[in-house]
Amino acid sequence: MTTLPDSCNPFPENVDQVFTHCRMATMAKGNYGIVENAALAVSGKKISWIGPMDALPETPGTKKVTDCRNQWILPGFVDCHTHLIWAGSRANEFEMRLAGASYADIAKAGGGIFSTVTATRAADEGTLFDLASRRMAHFLTQGITTVEIKSGYGLDLDTELKMLAVADRLQQTCPQNVQATFLGAHALPPEFSDRADDYIQEIIKVMLPAVKDQGIATAVDAFCETIAFSREQTRQVFEKAIDLGFDVKLHAEQLSDSSGTALAAEMGALSCDHLEYLSTNGAEKMAEHGTVAVLLPGAFYYLKETKVPPVDVFRRLRIPMAVATDLNPGSSPVHSMIPVLNMACLLFGLTCEQALAGATIHGANALGLADRKGSLEPGKDADFVIWDVASPADLCYLTGITPVKMVVIEGRTEHGSV
Ligand SMILES: [Zn+2]
Repeated sequence: MTTLPDSCNPFPENVDQVFTHCRMATMAKGNYGIVENAALAVSGKKISWIGPMDALPETPGTKKVTDCRNQWILPGFVDCHTHLIWAGSRANEFEMRLAGASYADIAKAGGGIFSTVTATRAADEGTLFDLASRRMAHFLTQGITTVEIKSGYGLDLDTELKMLAVADRLQQTCPQNVQATFLGAHALPPEFSDRADDYIQEIIKVMLPAVKDQGIATAVDAFCETIAFSREQTRQVFEKAIDLGFDVKLHAEQLSDSSGTALAAEMGALSCDHLEYLSTNGAEKMAEHGTVAVLLPGAFYYLKETKVPPVDVFRRLRIPMAVATDLNPGSSPVHSMIPVLNMACLLFGLTCEQALAGATIHGANALGLADRKGSLEPGKDADFVIWDVASPADLCYLTGITPVKMVVIEGRTEHGSV
């Protein structure tokens, strides 16, 4: 069971902090990688050493020693798919649906994604920032140390740039690492009703170059679905995005099989996300091109879907499975990874080890950050959480409680204490 990292010796010089007497699930290579009675050293922002307590030398140069009292350390959660910036609420819509209203009824009453678009367009940057920074502060208490944030509730140039500017301010002011993604092709804005191709041209000719000039987003996402954009429209957006140097990723196969995944994989997408209706052919393309499968059980749960993603196929083809909150006001108002881990196990059939790997190392894989984030290994960023649990599986098993003791990001204690 105990796997010691190869590089546990020698103990480095210039260690700033040592965390002693801990139990550790490193999540390296997507496995628990458990080290019992362990210690972890931090130099600057990086993990510099991991090993058993009895290999820990006297550390006269060490500035700080934290006794973890046999509690568990895991990598910080990497939430690789969120829509964390928005204004307005959709609770009324939730009530309407419970009372039997159809999507058409809700749309007629001004609900659905366009209610969020209207509220987000109307909110000034400061208001949006206040709302989003509160969500980020809560995420910190939930052990989430890296957050991907998409635009996509503006659907016009000014609001899309405003949302990305808010993501940039969050990166400057919150302790977490923020990765911003441009999602102009999220839905067809009312101004372009029945003119989807014209909106795609607006994205390609106006929005993408402006987003590139703004210099905040690193990736471009799209929603390839019968209710959103076609495979061909997605291809056009991605071609331009890749041309401008963006990474690409796709909301794909959530409600039907539109074959967006195969296209995105062939175009080198970092990840394809949702994937409930993915065909075996699409999964084979992902395996061939190293695309990560991002599973979003929160949306599956809130939409009361019944078709689950092909987890067995992902396992057979060794496609890394990430797990994310999909935090958004419509289909996944889930502000924590803990219930998502539980849903990934109970609704999608992941093991606890797979769910935890999905929320850590494979979340980092989905963002192209696995060389720095997502596992406890010497040389990686010192992003980790000390948990008051009996075993890592408790994080999938328990709900209604987040047993975080302390959150460390790039070597700094950002929340709690041992
Ligand atoms: Zn999404």
